[in-house]
Amino acid sequence: MQYFDTHAHLGLIVDDPIEQLIVIQEARQVCVNRIVSICNSLHDFAQVYENLKSASNVYHSVGVSPSEVQNPGKGWLQLIEQSVQYPRVVAIGEIGLDYYRKFGDKKSQIELFITQLDIATKLNLPVIIHNRDAGHDVLDILRDRLPPKGGVLHCYSEDGAYAQKALDLNLFFSFAGNLTYKNAKNLHETISVLPVDRILIESESPFMVPADYRGKRNMPKYLPITARYMANMIDMEEDALAAQLWENSCKFFGLPNE
Ligand SMILES: [Zn+2]
Repeated sequence: MQYFDTHAHLGLIVDDPIEQLIVIQEARQVCVNRIVSICNSLHDFAQVYENLKSASNVYHSVGVSPSEVQNPGKGWLQLIEQSVQYPRVVAIGEIGLDYYRKFGDKKSQIELFITQLDIATKLNLPVIIHNRDAGHDVLDILRDRLPPKGGVLHCYSEDGAYAQKALDLNLFFSFAGNLTYKNAKNLHETISVLPVDRILIESESPFMVPADYRGKRNMPKYLPITARYMANMIDMEEDALAAQLWENSCKFFGLPNE
């Protein structure tokens, strides 16, 4: 049995490069064998990539998140295009819209989102999508601009009706530790109606720690807890679910299934 953590902010869990490698090692000990390290900011992408260079089971995304809309950095577009040349960069992300925290204004967030969707199309990569209180706009934009390699709605937090619309676009749905929260009724309902081949799992570490570890800083090593909850909710054997999630993740990121 092995797990694929499709979304971890390894650079935010700990600063020290040695400790980052320990986080990956500890994940491996509980069969979290692959991790996608999500770009926190273009300002430190190269540093995090360098820190994790020796970890051949770690892949990377690169992009400007809505939180950086006012300060993506000089030459950010070129920087993204350069960064995807690094081996093991497998996606553009996380990108999207966040109306909850009101970064910049809506118009500039939308422009940034669309520009990066077009970059993903040009570079032939899938996208990792962040959505907070912007579900309607996100789908509207994706209807016209979803790159051919597709996208994943990460840390899925919407309801079943929304999922239905997202399925029409052939999107993937990635579930994080909040799936384990008792009050996350909409997630419990949604996951049971989704086709299992559209589901991914993620830690979203250091955020969204599973209920069992509430109060702790989340890490990829806690991902199997979320997987266990998921298996119960959709009434699947844990190892069959793990195999399915692994296969889905490899397919989404264009990686060999081994
Ligand atoms: Zn994230």
